[in-house]
Amino acid sequence: MRAPYIDNKDAKLCTGCSACAYACPTGAIAMGEDACGFTYPMVDEKKCIGCGKCYQACHMAEPNDLKHNGEPKAYGAYATNKDQLMRSASGGVATAIALHVVANGGVAYGCVAHREDVRHERLVSPEDVDSSRGSKYVQSDISRAISQITTDLESGAHVAFVGTPCQCAALRRLFGKRENLLLVDLICEGVPSRRMYADFLNDLERECGERVNDFRFRDKRKGWGTKNPTVVVQGGVSAKRQRYSFDYPYYWLFQKGLILRDSCYACPYACRERVGDVTVGDYWGVESMGLGYKLEELHNGISCVLVCTSRGQSVLERLGESLKMCESSFSSIAAGNTCVNRPSRCDQKKRAEIIGEYAEKHGAGLAVSYKRNFGLEQRIWESIVACMPHSIRVIAKQTKRLLKKQSGGR
Ligand SMILES: Cc1cc2nc3c(=O)[nH]c(=O)nc-3n(C[C@H](O)[C@H](O)[C@H](O)COP(=O)(O)OP(=O)(O)OC[C@H]3O[C@@H](n4cnc5c(N)ncnc54)[C@H](O)[C@@H]3O)c2cc1C
Ligand code: SF4
Ligand code: SF4
Repeated sequence: MRAPYIDNKDAKLCTGCSACAYACPTGAIAMGEDACGFTYPMVDEKKCIGCGKCYQACHMAEPNDLKHNGEPKAYGAYATNKDQLMRSASGGVATAIALHVVANGGVAYGCVAHREDVRHERLVSPEDVDSSRGSKYVQSDISRAISQITTDLESGAHVAFVGTPCQCAALRRLFGKRENLLLVDLICEGVPSRRMYADFLNDLERECGERVNDFRFRDKRKGWGTKNPTVVVQGGVSAKRQRYSFDYPYYWLFQKGLILRDSCYACPYACRERVGDVTVGDYWGVESMGLGYKLEELHNGISCVLVCTSRGQSVLERLGESLKMCESSFSSIAAGNTCVNRPSRCDQKKRAEIIGEYAEKHGAGLAVSYKRNFGLEQRIWESIVACMPHSIRVIAKQTKRLLKKQSGGR
């Protein structure tokens, strides 16, 4: 028996984790790209000996076996070091955990972007961990990290891995429930391909007329949850490019869930039964949950945290003063965060058109789809919301929820 995708080529059955290629004893499997740059295993039939190792390695063979059942403990949390908090995507919890593991002699793995080369790296110092801070909304390559983690686990090192739920599932399937492996999964909407991201950066570069080194999807200068990404050029942050997230075709199409990998629309991990020991995401809607956060705290960012195992709980307890935590519930977190409960959805007909256009015309295809789908009315509305100061937006959201509650949720 071979990995489900390898035998029936149903794209929804493959998350591109590369565990099958790693497990193949004859090197018969290599990861290749489809027309949109999404990676899939390709088998050299001449080398395949039918041993079934790829099936054993594939987390999509039995995804439910990898999840933790029962109601997870839930928290709102943020890092108390303000400088660190402001450079993180939400409350800085993912990085705080990685820093703690490294400070205690362990090894962390996190996603680092070298322009379009977005991959998981081995992090052994606070500086290394710092380079993994921030959300990169693109699929990260974990192929090299898998081999490195194998060596680390075999040497007895304590390993913490932060990544998407499917990446964590791949590691859980490969390594089992090891005492020295801590998995931190993110709440995940889904991922576009690295090729799409590269095309987007190249187009941006042509537009800017200078080398673009990085695109920071989340920037909290104007507050958590504001739509202000940053373009990083040779000399630092580009002053010319101070636009909103919806001004960038790639970012807008990602946020609308229109350019995600096929598997993301049927993700078996977008549910309450988490695959990680700890799950971290943005605590959207926290201002209405009666947790008593002040405006300044809401401005700086709050993570939602779900804890599924005693190992996860004990790591959070050991973080002590470096995190400010507040008990909450799964239902409160799910109220503002659909992807913790179900996979992303989109108009699949529209998506097929966009994906087709991209396969044919690359970056130009994304730009055309963006213009066609992002109407003037929507643009005006998004611009108004984006211009609002953070405090006004918080009050507007609270009022909206209150009105909804009073009208019985209609
Ligand atoms: C593709 C993607 C989709 C997401 N969708 C949602 C969502 O729908 N709802 C929600 O609440 N949260 C979502 N998140 C999580 C959210 O953006 C934050 O990453 C999370 O809240 C952690 O914030 P932090 O401040 O604790 O992390 P930080 O301290 O900023 O650290 C970020 C951590 O994320 C990891 N990371 C960054 N990019 C990637 C990547 N491409 N692949 C794997 N790991 C990565 C890094 O290794 C690092 O450990 C998503 C994240 C990603 C990467
Ligand atoms: S999900 Fe991972 S292990 Fe399974 S076929 Fe795809 S790349 Fe291979
Ligand atoms: S939505 Fe699911 S399949 Fe897609 S990247 Fe996230 S965890 Fe993986």
